[in-house]
Amino acid sequence: MTVKQFFKIGKYEMYPLCRSISGKGTLKTLEIIKRNFQGFKIKNFKSQKKVFDWKIPSQWEISDAYILDKYNNKIVSLKNNNLHIIGYSIPIKKEISLDKLLKKLYSLPNLKDAIPYITSYYNKSWGFCVSERFKKKLKKKYKIKDKFQVVIQSKFNSNGKLNYGEFYIKGKLKKEILISTYICHPSLANDNLSGIIVSMALMKFFNSRKNNKSIRFLFLPETIGSIAYISKNLDMLKKNVIGGYILSCVGDDKNHSCMFTKYGNTISDDALREAYKQKKIKYKTYSFLHRGSDERQFCSPGIELPIASIFRTKYGEFKEYHNSLDDFKLVSQKGLNGGYKVAKQSILNIDSKIIPTSKYICEPQLGKRGLYKLLSEKNVIDNQDCWKILDFLQYADGKNDINRIAKYINLKTKVTKKLYHFLQDENLLH
Ligand code: ZN
Repeated sequence: MTVKQFFKIGKYEMYPLCRSISGKGTLKTLEIIKRNFQGFKIKNFKSQKKVFDWKIPSQWEISDAYILDKYNNKIVSLKNNNLHIIGYSIPIKKEISLDKLLKKLYSLPNLKDAIPYITSYYNKSWGFCVSERFKKKLKKKYKIKDKFQVVIQSKFNSNGKLNYGEFYIKGKLKKEILISTYICHPSLANDNLSGIIVSMALMKFFNSRKNNKSIRFLFLPETIGSIAYISKNLDMLKKNVIGGYILSCVGDDKNHSCMFTKYGNTISDDALREAYKQKKIKYKTYSFLHRGSDERQFCSPGIELPIASIFRTKYGEFKEYHNSLDDFKLVSQKGLNGGYKVAKQSILNIDSKIIPTSKYICEPQLGKRGLYKLLSEKNVIDNQDCWKILDFLQYADGKNDINRIAKYINLKTKVTKKLYHFLQDENLLH
């Protein structure tokens, strides 16, 4: 039921909007989410702001774009398909001949009826995207010196904004799970309206539940949005984020797949593996070397957040990827439900994990706390020697849950749990 509600919103309200990394279509998408979630925040970064090695680009708005033939027929129009225009095209109004026009028409020779999705955010350029079939027809119908009127009504605002959305669900703990998805693709369903739809369904579920950890949902323009967000919130993220996922291409019903973190050894990786197992889902894994979304930023050196990626069929692995065939024939409620199920279970798994963190830098002084003595008297850890306290604390670095610590220090999980409670009572853990 949860997915169904947002499937409709995605399909009928969001799909037709002309999104990009900035501009009205993206803002409208965020406003639709806000309308459905009290407490959802639409925030922004100012154009031209420097973020790490990047600069936020100007805000781009497009009101219309079309090509007229010599008979004044509109042969291509943005109003028919948002993919017809290269994202961030500069404004143009001029007459050109067919031979010149053909160089500005982009198509996919292997997919005759598909309109490709192309952007040029950082190089000033312009162009139209059309189907291969259309391009061929054009060559047949007109002479090479026939004139065409090309019009692109776009604007760049250097005092503009790059909008993004954030939804924070406060849990019992400040430690948080980060779910990030991207909002910059125009009328494409799997990549990545599916991520937006599944995120909303997850927000609804976790917002009506008492969670141990806090959960933060981000809706960012890909790459520049995550870089800007990280640059603004790095300390908070490093302090609080214990796990999380990028949701990308989670709406087709063909495969289940994922990409673990760089070393595949974080709590998020464990929780995701467990989720597939619990749900009895067969899945494919992709190497981090095949990354393509915001894990590129979240997992990069100096940031190193434990963020894995959840997909149905991964970007670049389906023929509809980045072209007009990526629509709601490819994405279905059933497909989205599958993505939702895996993400929900993975988040639940992280939420239920006990992830102890030692309160002290370097070893705490056990002697002054009388812990050696206490330990033998209370027999808290089934006659294990007191070194187990220090072993436990060594691995209580916020990156391991009780199960992993148990493995590292060669103790049964049950005994490790007892030790955890003991150390908590002794005020040695966060
Ligand atoms: Zn994409």
